[in-house]
Amino acid sequence: MATTTTTEVTIPFVEALAAYEPVLGLEVHVELNTATKMFCGCATEFGAEPNSQVCPVCLGLPGALPVLNEKGVESAIRIGLALGCEIAPWCRFARKNYFYPDMPKNFQTSQYDEPISHDGHLDVELEDGSTYRVEIERAHMEEDTGKSLHIGGATGRIHGATHSLVDYNRAGIPLIEIVTKPMVGAGERAPEVARAYVAALRDIVKALGVSDARMDQGSMRCDVNVSLMPKGADRFGTRSETKNVNSLRSVERAVRYEIERHAAVLASGGSVVQETRHWHEDTGVTTSGRVKSDADDYRYFPEPDLVPIAPSAELVESLRATLPENPALRRRRLQSSWGYSDLEMRDVVNAGLVETIGETVAAGASPAGARKWWSGEVARRANAAGTDVVPYAASVGVTAAHVAELEGLISSGRLNDRMARDVWDGVLAGEGTPTQVADARGLRLVEDSGAIEGAVEKVIAANPDIATKVRDGKVQAAGALIGQVMKELKGQGDAAAVRALILARLTGAPSAE
Ligand code: ADP
Ligand code: MG
Ligand code: ZN
Repeated sequence: MATTTTTEVTIPFVEALAAYEPVLGLEVHVELNTATKMFCGCATEFGAEPNSQVCPVCLGLPGALPVLNEKGVESAIRIGLALGCEIAPWCRFARKNYFYPDMPKNFQTSQYDEPISHDGHLDVELEDGSTYRVEIERAHMEEDTGKSLHIGGATGRIHGATHSLVDYNRAGIPLIEIVTKPMVGAGERAPEVARAYVAALRDIVKALGVSDARMDQGSMRCDVNVSLMPKGADRFGTRSETKNVNSLRSVERAVRYEIERHAAVLASGGSVVQETRHWHEDTGVTTSGRVKSDADDYRYFPEPDLVPIAPSAELVESLRATLPENPALRRRRLQSSWGYSDLEMRDVVNAGLVETIGETVAAGASPAGARKWWSGEVARRANAAGTDVVPYAASVGVTAAHVAELEGLISSGRLNDRMARDVWDGVLAGEGTPTQVADARGLRLVEDSGAIEGAVEKVIAANPDIATKVRDGKVQAAGALIGQVMKELKGQGDAAAVRALILARLTGAPSAE
């Protein structure tokens, strides 16, 4: 097994793309969030004590028989339907035989030539507003393997380790593997297409509620196949398969790196080795794993211990009726109902705030206000704390209702914008609801019209030159007067009302309200 981490030769991306057309293939594993494993009643909780969620079935003890998890099959069908796949009216599981200690049965229960769903597609939106259609070859059911931990070596890999530990809690957790057809024609956008596809897939399985799809915890994992062919060629080149890439950003970087590496190999007259590769997040490179030929012999055969699956047309249609709105279309619908620009919507999506803003608007806030309060100070603080807005807000106890209440205090005329910022700071510091903070800090616009008029008179009298300019039609000069009146009112004035009063007093314009 190759273990070197020496960086291989690459050539710049732009040069690689000038000579070669990249072809991509993505295999995404999604761990379903069923309460129990695919073929036994063991719990599936993440992070439990090693080997505490095991039984004779998932440990492959002699005589143990699997029982199919119905919920797992339903989730598989719903994923297939959401990807526009055909659902097989009849299919089977197959044994994929291999001998690694992470699979105590010595085979993985999977599907081979009879996947539960096949031939779908997913349209992904790219930054430039265009759409790329990813053709889906199949989405099949299988079970996850256990986790091996190699101890004693420098790299955490088996090479150099003194011993290994295995945790079978994960063995038998239902997985759906979604395999694309070879993706051609993306050109220089190939890294972006790969990332956008995985992001769109993640959004769909989350919207379906079938998986938490957390790449950081391994409940969604991506194998990235890349090959290059000379421009204009009609046969695909040899692919590499970079395993278990575990973030969206890494998917994009891994594709890019492999394009640069393949191009260097081909340009120097060499040939690409068909192999699996490891992605290194820290250095941004891949290294050689094991050589893998298409003829790898897993001696697949139909699983004799499980009956075939034959979902009725009624079942499939009833599951189709449960499909959520496509997340990308939903985002577009929300954008237009909220009146956000493309840029504003993209920021909101990137900050993970779509649901939060929906809740805030439902609680009575304006879409513009919801965006402003969530993406301003909260985002700044979340960033400083090294986390995202939603978990940060939850950790300090700030809710959609707080934002709606704050907006209400502004629109009812109790707070001006500057005071609202103060109140928001207090809410974020855990001092209570917006009303409680405003009360505690004594924040309230001066409502006493006598006090406002008094301040206006005083400031006009003290600034006769400016007053004359305003009288002569230089309305913008009123700004200086407004500022001084606000100071007189200790910042607790309603700037718009003050402005109207000054103009009414000096130019005879009708005062608003
Ligand atoms: P394996 O089990 O060997 O990983 P699969 O058929 O499950 O093979 O998946 C291979 C993936 O690679 C699919 O997404 C497929 O579309 C893609 N693929 C196949 N040939 C090429 C190629 N020459 N270049 C890039 N991707 C490819
Ligand atoms: Mg595969
Ligand atoms: Zn079990």
